[in-house]
Amino acid sequence: MIEKTAAELSQALSSGVISSVELTQSYLDRIKKYNAELNAYITICEDTALSQAKTADEKRAAGDSSPLLGVPLAHKDIFCTNGVTTTCGSRMLHNFVAPYDATVVEKFNTAGAVMLGKTNMDEFAMGSSNETSFFGPVKNPWDIKRVPGGSSGGSAAAVAADLCAMATGTDTGGSIRQPAAFCGITGFKPSYGRVSRWGMIAFASSLDQAGPLCKSAEDAALMTNVMAGLDKKDSTSIDKPVEDYAATLNDSLQGLKIGIPKQHFAEGLTAEVEKGIREALREYEKLGATLIEVDLPNNHLSVSAYYVVAPAEASANLSRYDGVRYGYRCENPVDLDDMYKRTRSEGFGDEVKRRILVGTYALSAGYYDAYYRKAQKIRRLIKNDFVEAFKEVDVIVGPTSPHTAFELGAKTDPVTMYLEDIYTIAVNLAGLPGISIPAGLSNGLPIGMHIVGKDFGEAKLLNVAHQFQQQTDWHRQKPNFGQEG
Ligand code: GLN
Repeated sequence: MIEKTAAELSQALSSGVISSVELTQSYLDRIKKYNAELNAYITICEDTALSQAKTADEKRAAGDSSPLLGVPLAHKDIFCTNGVTTTCGSRMLHNFVAPYDATVVEKFNTAGAVMLGKTNMDEFAMGSSNETSFFGPVKNPWDIKRVPGGSSGGSAAAVAADLCAMATGTDTGGSIRQPAAFCGITGFKPSYGRVSRWGMIAFASSLDQAGPLCKSAEDAALMTNVMAGLDKKDSTSIDKPVEDYAATLNDSLQGLKIGIPKQHFAEGLTAEVEKGIREALREYEKLGATLIEVDLPNNHLSVSAYYVVAPAEASANLSRYDGVRYGYRCENPVDLDDMYKRTRSEGFGDEVKRRILVGTYALSAGYYDAYYRKAQKIRRLIKNDFVEAFKEVDVIVGPTSPHTAFELGAKTDPVTMYLEDIYTIAVNLAGLPGISIPAGLSNGLPIGMHIVGKDFGEAKLLNVAHQFQQQTDWHRQKPNFGQEG
């Protein structure tokens, strides 16, 4: 039962084949058995999960048929959870217990989903491999010598290894889509502003967006139905009606125009991934879509622009961790200055410090125009490239990552790691929705296909992803990990 999608579990719960308490217990047993090896969870909430499951069963019995009622999920440890440790993968917050729920968490609670625990992540969501976590790296269930991707690697590994039915994540430059690709699952980043960021620990506020990591596009639709919507507590959340994203999943793709960005099939893309994506595109042609080459001429500037904008915002957001208000404080400070300095030196890891330094530099009076303002101008050019492309096509498709999951410890140079997001980062700079779905295997490792939609085109995007999953079973493939029982 645990391998099923959330939509299937929802059916099983409503027909009484299984209770939420039984289901939750099966996931908890599996977490106990396998989490030590994968390190996907930082915190496991056994007692509250079972009590939420009991409540869900009572509600079902009383006639409540909310789709995700009683379905077990995990939250990335970047979302504040009332009374539960919320670490953001950092020593700085290793002992921080949030006094409230993030809006996303509250919405899942209201929908009756059962929270199994909090998942591991790169420190403050900075990374592409989950190796920057204070709590140690997460392992990829397809090959435990490999990374699960990042920064939502704990969520991706937990879904792939059936340690939960579905999970939340956040994506600032690719952190939902790239780990989804590496772990062979579905990962969806909605348009900027579609989901509230309130209570989601800020990394780069103009780019961060929460979304689902799950087993199918249909599950992503069900989760987005819960997550999306205006939130008065987040002034960047958008006042636009929330569609029923599950209602249009079965629309025909006859006549769909798919843009193929030439920049995403250029140097750097490995042959196996290219082959997988080209074959996947043929499935779309069979469904009645036409492929049209599109140009994203400024794509090559996206990583550089991002690594000015994101660190700049991070340096401001992370100034609040000073030892006074949250989490870690150094031992025996001699004075206030000493406390600030040592708290931040000891509390943050190397990658976080690197970003704070880069960001502070880019925002300093003498360099603001040369770096920050320039990066913002490039951001506009990147956005305009998409506006132009979307005049010709309905969605844009390419690989999520140039390669499959790499080995732990294989990338030591920060810039090589930054280039991981070469196909995903422009989408955040432009604020668009993007999804990664499994589209093949290469040497036993999953290949992710990236589909980008128009502004607030989440319904179309999920429809396009779902139709592929009706034709293929790549999203049903499982790693061997944990199959022995
Ligand atoms: N890999 C990118 C970074 O390290 C993106 C991370 C993310 O999306 N949170 O900044």
